[in-house]
Amino acid sequence: MNKKDAIDMIETLKKTYPDATCSLNFKTPFEIVIAVMLSAQCTDERVNKTTPELFKKYPTIEDFANCDINELEEIIHPCGFYKNKAKNAKACAQKILSDFNGIVPKTMEELTSLPGVGRKSANVILLEAFGIANGIAVDTHAKRISNKIGLSKEKEPTKIEQDLLKIFPKEYLKDVNHLFVWHGRNTCTARNPKCENCAIKKYCKTYKTKHKC
Ligand code: SF4
Repeated sequence: MNKKDAIDMIETLKKTYPDATCSLNFKTPFEIVIAVMLSAQCTDERVNKTTPELFKKYPTIEDFANCDINELEEIIHPCGFYKNKAKNAKACAQKILSDFNGIVPKTMEELTSLPGVGRKSANVILLEAFGIANGIAVDTHAKRISNKIGLSKEKEPTKIEQDLLKIFPKEYLKDVNHLFVWHGRNTCTARNPKCENCAIKKYCKTYKTKHKC
């Protein structure tokens, strides 16, 4: 796809999903770090049901760093992989205190040095907590849609992100993940995508191949 079509497609998605934003609830940079961590293999809806109790019990980074791991595991149990997530959340809080003066860092390199924070999570944190969009978070929706539309043939999120960064101008980076997530939830679902009703089917390689456009 050429740049012009890619921009037209994003503009179409913006009109289709004018309310597309991050659906995780948070009030501070550290809360989005924890919410993103919990959202791995879990729905945002489930995370949003869990975090109010969690952030009430542990309102500060120090509280997470000093928490009883068993109590933390119990609260986040509904989000799945709770043992790993609890271990990472506590270790992440400890590292922010020891290495970053208790302040969530603002660079990709520093964020990905935190336990449980990979490149995708760091892209979400940078955008949602600090409004920084130098990359694109490639989650399951962004991966599937990038492949289907023909924006990338790659399977690895990091490589897909590199392909997307070559196509989309910087001012669009903040929108791409949100729009792909909303499109993936509402139209281009993993099972039974609603291709006939899809607002961007004219740009989609899968659709054009099937219909020999
Ligand atoms: S046409 Fe179908 S496969 Fe292509 S983006 Fe739309 S819903 Fe997804």
